[in-house]
Amino acid sequence: MVWDPASASSCLTPLSAKPLVVVIIGPGGVGKGTVVRDLVARDAKLWLSRSWTTRAKRPSETGDEYVFVSTETFRDAIAADAFLEWAEFLGYLYGTPRPTIGDTHDLLLEIEIQGAQQIREHDPDAVIILLTPPSREELEERLRRRGDDDVHVQRRLRSSDLELEMGRALADFVVVNEDVAQTGAEIASILEGLRQSRR
Ligand code: 5GP
Repeated sequence: MVWDPASASSCLTPLSAKPLVVVIIGPGGVGKGTVVRDLVARDAKLWLSRSWTTRAKRPSETGDEYVFVSTETFRDAIAADAFLEWAEFLGYLYGTPRPTIGDTHDLLLEIEIQGAQQIREHDPDAVIILLTPPSREELEERLRRRGDDDVHVQRRLRSSDLELEMGRALADFVVVNEDVAQTGAEIASILEGLRQSRR
């Protein structure tokens, strides 16, 4: 389910404990987007936040992946304190709008590492899950498949080494994304365990 403030107060069942804040991190191309879509499809307690970005929509994207905005609009939102976290990543701005869903759902964020660090600073209970690729070769292949040009693929690969190193230091759980369904099931089971233990 994608978080939509307009419909946030309808179809909601209260959770029995403080909602989880679940942060999925991992290098570009590792498959975070596909995994979070799998997660929200299998777990109705999750609300997926829709980020803002100043980067252009890729030809392969439908337009629902982000709120695509100009740098000026993004900067105005920063000035209005509209983001839970935001960061610059490879020349573009990305930010999580402040959620207004209350405590009826667990919040799911798919963001990069600086954003995850900000979330952790504000909420030490946030659960950070690092997705890793089965290999660097597979990561490169996935980056190429989604249509990035060679310059972008090489930039993202270079950045991925640091992201994995920093991610390992920050994450509570590390999951190798070999197969989406298997990864989704593994994360769903981690979340169920956390819900039980925090009850
Ligand atoms: P991409 O351009 O490949 O869609 O995203 C680049 C990176 O930005 C990815 O690691 C993605 O998870 C991250 N990202 C997406 N939305 C946000 C956000 O709201 N905040 C932060 N900090 N990173 C984000």
